[in-house]
Amino acid sequence: MPVEFRCSDIGADTCTKHFIAATWEDLMAQVSEHLRVVHRVKTPTQTLMTYISKKVKVSS
Ligand SMILES: [Zn+2]
Repeated sequence: MPVEFRCSDIGADTCTKHFIAATWEDLMAQVSEHLRVVHRVKTPTQTLMTYISKKVKVSS
């Protein structure tokens, strides 16, 4: 089932990035890469990833 996530869901108001992926693993890989490149989060912490994972929606 596809999953989706928006940066604005974690308070990045200026970022309009919307992710959609076929699997959870793929989504998290995309989000980590985006955080690293765009938001300069070199090593996302477990706390951050847990927070993000709570905001991920399963799209229908
Ligand atoms: Zn972003």
